[in-house]
Amino acid sequence: MHQNNRVLVTGGAGFIGSHICEVLLETGAEVLCVDNFFTGARSNVSHLRDHPNFELMRHDVTFPLFVEVDQIYNMACPASPIHYQFDPVQTTKTSVHGAINMLGLAKRTGARILQASTSEVYGDPDVHPQQEDYWGNVNPIGPRSCYDEGKRCAETLFFDYFRQHQTDIKVARIFNTYGPRMNPQDGRVVSNFIVQALKGEDITLYGDGEQTRSFCYVDDLVRGLIGLMDSPEGITGPVNLGNPGEFTIRELAEQVIELTGSKSQLTHRPLPQDDPKKRRPDITKAKEQLGWEPTIPLRDGLVKAIEYFDNLLKAH
Ligand code: NAD
Ligand code: UDP
Repeated sequence: MHQNNRVLVTGGAGFIGSHICEVLLETGAEVLCVDNFFTGARSNVSHLRDHPNFELMRHDVTFPLFVEVDQIYNMACPASPIHYQFDPVQTTKTSVHGAINMLGLAKRTGARILQASTSEVYGDPDVHPQQEDYWGNVNPIGPRSCYDEGKRCAETLFFDYFRQHQTDIKVARIFNTYGPRMNPQDGRVVSNFIVQALKGEDITLYGDGEQTRSFCYVDDLVRGLIGLMDSPEGITGPVNLGNPGEFTIRELAEQVIELTGSKSQLTHRPLPQDDPKKRRPDITKAKEQLGWEPTIPLRDGLVKAIEYFDNLLKAH
């Protein structure tokens, strides 16, 4: 299906983007990976460097890009609270100017374009589980707003390009995803807990640890993203992609301790402002429209992620 298909992956040197590049190359696509290396790294795609259909370009999506492509996966944006709050103005620019630039590119070339949106568009939800027709409960002026509102505005732009210019859009709302090539320093809960457990350090539970998240293994997610990209033209999304298995953060910590055999203890830290209390995707739409659902349970995915971080720590 991807034969002779020229695919642009923005944020392609990041965690999820690098897995997309890898799978697309396996299916015969030509992949142009664009990244400014803010949170991503060349090392995430170094194993692809010599592939004849792979090209890596340093570029910031807040500036226009002129290339000829058939499909665009717009993944560029720091995703962890530490990194997206480091330079919040740049985060909003990446989502909003980045969307305008990539949609402009899609409009000129006629490319199909997929947006990596997020469960954060639901904010701290008062509907549970979250369905796509829920409009969310988002603080517009808090520390998470640069990310949440930037992604919401990007969705608005996608649907306005669709209505105004008939751009061929796909919008995925991605829920917490984990796996190999997460940045060990980016402060996200799965990487934090695994690295802390492997080092025998205290495991940092923010708040009482009773807040919930639903964790999707990266291979399942990438299959869903590619399935959405390749779905019939009438399917625009937004569509939730995530694993409906819901766990408290304390349960996650306990599983990580058990699977690593660590002697780490749990310790408490203050709950960050506007931290969502509950999160679980309703994936009925993805099942019906894409025939997609995740297959990798948290336990199995954690084993693979632990192996990755263990090798990474041993190499440094
Ligand atoms: P990541 O930080 O590993 O990847 C993001 C990539 O984008 C990095 O390589 C970074 O260097 C690059 N980037 C950032 N700003 C850029 C810019 N202005 N120009 C070019 N490149 C830029 O994060 P990830 O987890 O792989 O997330 C990828 C996408 O998926 C993001 O858009 C994120 O918002 C979305 N998402 C991820 C999750 C998750 O749980 N991982 C959940 C919801 C949505
Ligand atoms: N969290 C935690 N300890 C950590 C890192 C995160 O308890 O060391 C909590 C965080 O407060 C949130 C959940 O884990 O409730 C998920 O955090 P993450 O930053 O991974 O994702 P997001 O909040 O964006 O879903």
